Amino acid sequence: MLNKKELIDLIFNEDNAYLTDFQNHKVFNSILSDVLYLEEDLRQNNLELHILSAYRSFNSQQSIWNQKVLGQRDVLDERSKKIDIRNLTNEELFFKILNWSAFPTLSRHHFGTELDIADGIYLQENPRYQCQMIDSEYLTGPFKNLFQYTKSNLKNFYHPYQKDLGGIKPEPWHISNNISKEIISDFTYEIFLDFLNSDLLKDILLLDIAKKNSKLLYHQYFLPRLNV
Ligand SMILES: [Zn+2]
Repeated sequence: MLNKKELIDLIFNEDNAYLTDFQNHKVFNSILSDVLYLEEDLRQNNLELHILSAYRSFNSQQSIWNQKVLGQRDVLDERSKKIDIRNLTNEELFFKILNWSAFPTLSRHHFGTELDIADGIYLQENPRYQCQMIDSEYLTGPFKNLFQYTKSNLKNFYHPYQKDLGGIKPEPWHISNNISKEIISDFTYEIFLDFLNSDLLKDILLLDIAKKNSKLLYHQYFLPRLNV
């Protein structure tokens, strides 16, 4: 569906032609009809689609990543508790960050096919509520009904991170459009290696550790979710 040049455009250029605006976010053009269907479907079930995050460019992901490496943004453990990163080796820090943040270029949010969602009705009734995107909000808290519904009733979307596969932790707020499967299969390991060795990634912190673990990153943290 997308060749290497087109993938570079989609991932690295935020103003590329593949994206359409929705709720102040950007989504991949051809998923818009599925997003509108989802919005209506949720409305009929007394829920409201509120997008917390959709397309994210390489630059935004790189800035999240680098801030975590530098201790300017919290790094959380598997239970969403803040980690004291001062005693970690660079390699340990690298993998702790990967629990919740994809390595830049390997975030599915780069494709515009992914949505992090919350229930807009709750957010309107509780305007001061700050959504944290942690498990408890979706398993027992304010977005429980939303997660319960989306777990089994989605059309053309699915929850890629429902089970802990040893890579990224389960993310009940994250849904993925089926089209992502095609884009992921276009994005080969060879393309990822080209990225790692190109100037495009020269400003990423801990790049040497990514290069050393490129196979693991690609196969365990990116690909497995293709078939979930
Ligand atoms: Zn997400």
